[in-house]
Amino acid sequence: MHKILLVEDEPNIARFVELELTHEGYEVTKAEDGREGLRLAEEGGFDLMLLDIMLPGLNGLEVLRRLRKTSRLPVLMLTARDAVMDKVTGLDMGADDYITKPFSIEELLARIRTALRKQTKQETPQLSFGPLNMDVLRHMVTIQEETVDLTGREFSLLQTLLENQGIVLSRETLMDRVWGYDFVGETNLVDVYIRYLRAKIAEKTDRKLIQTVRGVGYVLREDEGQ
Ligand code: CA
Repeated sequence: MHKILLVEDEPNIARFVELELTHEGYEVTKAEDGREGLRLAEEGGFDLMLLDIMLPGLNGLEVLRRLRKTSRLPVLMLTARDAVMDKVTGLDMGADDYITKPFSIEELLARIRTALRKQTKQETPQLSFGPLNMDVLRHMVTIQEETVDLTGREFSLLQTLLENQGIVLSRETLMDRVWGYDFVGETNLVDVYIRYLRAKIAEKTDRKLIQTVRGVGYVLREDEGQ
């Protein structure tokens, strides 16, 4: 069953869409403001996000901008009829499609089917190392079939390590790749997040996967001492 995240603050629209999508066999999770929507999307596990633009908390474009730093979750924007700029900006920012309000449910269902079809046609990027598997598109990590719950930042850090397995990455490199060049901060933030990641991995496996290379940085490889 496809899981859809619906971020819409107008209760009547949200209820109507939820009802219709549930009737069509989709599993719907609702969020009423941008922050909650972003939090849920970053948690992962969804196949598609329906994202309203005018939202309390964070507006839809800001939600999209932040989400795209860590996730390729398909996003279908819900826009007002005359908001041409929103459509252009949204598509530039990585929205997959948009639908103009007021829309018919048939049109919405057609757009959803198209977005989901496009998604499954793409080669699903899978990364793996030892017992660890990452489904980048679905934003999911599993160890021996068990899901590991990661925040967006932890996911992004682990993805960077997975894409460079066997290569030692310095704290500065990880800061650049995961937090972005514009982030002014201490590189010991990397150490903190590595600790979070290790703790979450340790809950599922005894194998030590992330190694510290003293004076250099971190690397994803089997512990030679094991
Ligand atoms: Ca709205």
